[in-house]
Amino acid sequence: MKNDNKNGEKLKLQLAQTESYTKLIAGNRAWVDQTLEKDPEFFKTLAKGQSPEVLWIGCADSRVPANEVTGTLPGEVFVHRNIANVCNHTDMNMLSVLDYAVNVLKVKHVIVTGHYGCGGVAAALTNKQFGLIDNWLRHIKDVYRLHSHELDRITNQEQKVNRLVELNVIEQAYNLCKTTIIQNAWKERDDLYVHGWIVDISTGLVKDLGVSANDSHKLGYVYEVAPAAV
Ligand SMILES: [Zn+2]
Repeated sequence: MKNDNKNGEKLKLQLAQTESYTKLIAGNRAWVDQTLEKDPEFFKTLAKGQSPEVLWIGCADSRVPANEVTGTLPGEVFVHRNIANVCNHTDMNMLSVLDYAVNVLKVKHVIVTGHYGCGGVAAALTNKQFGLIDNWLRHIKDVYRLHSHELDRITNQEQKVNRLVELNVIEQAYNLCKTTIIQNAWKERDDLYVHGWIVDISTGLVKDLGVSANDSHKLGYVYEVAPAAV
């Protein structure tokens, strides 16, 4: 135990010398002070609970934080992020977030947000091995295969990556619409929308891809599900 304490002190000292770490603690203090200056009751109100109307499913890239990009405050956006904003129907993490957001929080907007210059999408367009992540990027390679006819005609690599970023968002939004979570919610209420967005990191601006959906009628094929048997 004594040794543990000694190690704990040593670790604290090491961390205190790590600028990227101490910056976070100082940044938190500054943020709390600024927030309280504007609204002394802010955290007391925040602690009472959340009722966000938006679920943001975005890329884990450090340059696309949901609140900053949308100018929203804590409590306004429920967030799920992963590499290249993939919405895969066997991902229990994403499905759990989606189910909670749609059925408990009753969000009105589910927004899949990609970003130009996405490293995950760019990696998926190569034949290189990156490790475990290759299995995740397979989902994006599948999007490429679906749209190879269009993508193969783009000779500029940057433009090709950015078009795949857009197509990936569209397919992932479509994947969300195929889930029983979204489709059952649509049977119960008409105020739930699924959207596809892109953030242009070079301008900070968001682009709505115009694929918003509010019902399952256009899903077609075998994807539209009948009401669950009671
Ligand atoms: Zn990304």
